[in-house]
Amino acid sequence: MSNDDVKVPYVNESCIGCSACVAICGDVFDLDDDGKSFAKEGMNTSNADGIDDAIAACPVNAIHYKD
Ligand code: SF4
Repeated sequence: MSNDDVKVPYVNESCIGCSACVAICGDVFDLDDDGKSFAKEGMNTSNADGIDDAIAACPVNAIHYKD
């Protein structure tokens, strides 16, 4: 798979810090000092199922893929 095919997730400002995405896909998401989630630097983007599960589980629809 080339880099062009890699979908990179990000968390927008809607995050309420419920930590569901971290529990589901902790190799990609973590909570910052403000208690909000972010997609980690060097995240394991090969875990596409985990990312999709986290997107589906987010109660405020805060996780999206970058274009
Ligand atoms: S699941 Fe959504 S609201 Fe909860 S911590 Fe992750 S991004 Fe934030």
